[in-house]
Amino acid sequence: MVRGWTTPQLGALLLGLLLLGTPASPSDFQHHRYDELVRALLAVHSQCPYISRVYSIGRSAEGRHLYVLEVSDNPGVHEPLEPEFKYVGNMHGNEVLGRELLIKFAEFLCEEYRAGNHRIMQLVHDTRIHILPSMNPDGYEVAARQVQEGPEFNGYLVGRGNSREIDLNRNFPDLNALMYYYEKTNGRNHHLPLPDNWEQQVEPETLAVIKWMQNYNFVLSANLHGGAVVANYPFDKSRDPRIRGRTTYAASPDDKLFKKLAKAYSYAHSWMYKGWNCGDYFDEGITNGASWYSLSKGMQDFNYLYTNCFEITLELSCNKFPPASALPGEWLGNREALVSYLEQVHHGIKGMVYDENNNPIGDAEVSVSGVNHDVTSGVDGDYFRLLLPGTYTVTTTAPGYLPSTTTVTVGPAEATQLHFYLKPLPKQTLNIKQHHGKKNLSSTKVPLNLGPR
Ligand code: ZN
Repeated sequence: MVRGWTTPQLGALLLGLLLLGTPASPSDFQHHRYDELVRALLAVHSQCPYISRVYSIGRSAEGRHLYVLEVSDNPGVHEPLEPEFKYVGNMHGNEVLGRELLIKFAEFLCEEYRAGNHRIMQLVHDTRIHILPSMNPDGYEVAARQVQEGPEFNGYLVGRGNSREIDLNRNFPDLNALMYYYEKTNGRNHHLPLPDNWEQQVEPETLAVIKWMQNYNFVLSANLHGGAVVANYPFDKSRDPRIRGRTTYAASPDDKLFKKLAKAYSYAHSWMYKGWNCGDYFDEGITNGASWYSLSKGMQDFNYLYTNCFEITLELSCNKFPPASALPGEWLGNREALVSYLEQVHHGIKGMVYDENNNPIGDAEVSVSGVNHDVTSGVDGDYFRLLLPGTYTVTTTAPGYLPSTTTVTVGPAEATQLHFYLKPLPKQTLNIKQHHGKKNLSSTKVPLNLGPR
C-alpha cells in the first residue's frame, strides 16, 4: 500500500483514474464559488421541486445570502412529531470540505429519492432536513482566491473568519459559565437566557444562525469543519477557568448520548473511527471538545444550552482546502456517515403535550430522571427527546398545570411515542411559580469529570 494512503483513499484514486477520459457531470466534484453554490442549490430544487425549498436565513457581512436547502415531504411546513435536523458547513471559510459534501449530499438526497431508494424516501418522509452548506460565504471567497493564486498557498488561517476576520465559532454568546453556575445551585438546566444586547455583540452570520435556531425547533445537528478527522462533542468549554488551556474533559448531562452520536458518525465513516489521522490519535475517532482543547463561545455548546438541539462538530479532513481531485474519495468516505448520523434524529422518545381539551401546549418542559437537561415542546405541542436505549421516568410540566410522570422503555429502533395530557392546577395554587429555576426533583447530579481521559 502506498505510504500514508488509506484503503478508501486508494480506492478513490483508482476510481478517479478509471474516470479519466470519461466526461464528468458538471456538478460532480468541483469546488463551488458562491454563485456556483447558489446555482447548485437551485438546481437541486428544480430537480426535486416537491420535496425541497431554498430559503435564506439572512446575509453575511458583505451581503451574501446564507442559503439553506430544505428537504422534506412537506417543504416549508413543520409537521408535528416530524423532527427538524440541520447540517451546517463552512463556518470557517477556509475549511471547505463540508461545503462541498453538503452540496453533494443535497444532490444525493434528491437523486436517490427520485430513484426510489427506500431508506432515503423514508428519511425525507419522516424528517425535515435543513442544509446550510456555507455559514461563512465571505471567508470562503477569500480562501478560494488565495488557493487560486498558486500552490505556494500557505494561508492556514486565511479566510477562517468572516470578512471582518471574526472567528464565527468563537462568536456565540457564552452560556457555559452560567450553566456551570446553575449546576451547583440547582438552577435552570436548559434554554439559558441570552445576555442583554446580544444582537449587537455578534456578527451578522452568527445573528442569522441564532434567529434560525429560534424559528425552527431543531432536534439534532452537525457542524462540519476541517483540519483534523474526528467527531467532537460537548462541552467544548472547560468547567474550570484556572485550568483552561489544559485538556480537561467537560462532560455534559448527556455525555453518554453525545458519545453515541459521535460514534454514529465516526463508525459509519470509512476511516474516522480508526483514530489515527493527520498525526493525531482519537480513540474511536471521537473526542470531548474540552478534553481536546477548551474553546469558548462555540456554536456546539450554544445549541445545547440555548435550544433543544444536540449538535456535534465534525472535523472531516487534514487538509482544510483539499484539491478537487480528493473530493470523490471524501464523498465516498462520508456518504454513509452523513445518512447514518441523520437517522439518529429518530431515536429516543417523542410525543405531544396536550391540555385536558386536547389543545397542544407549547414550551412544556420534559424532564428525564437521571439526566439534568430538559427539553421543551414546540409551538405545536410536540417534543423530541433523544435517549439511549433503556427505561426512563419522564415528567412533563407547564405553568398552570399539574406535572405528569410516566415510565417509558426506549428501544434501539425508532423513537417511542409518549404523549402527555396535563390537568390544570387547582385554582388556589395557580400562583405558585414552578417554571423557572425550579429544583428538578427527578434529576440526579452528574459528577464533574475534570480529569483527562
Ligand atoms: Zn473549523
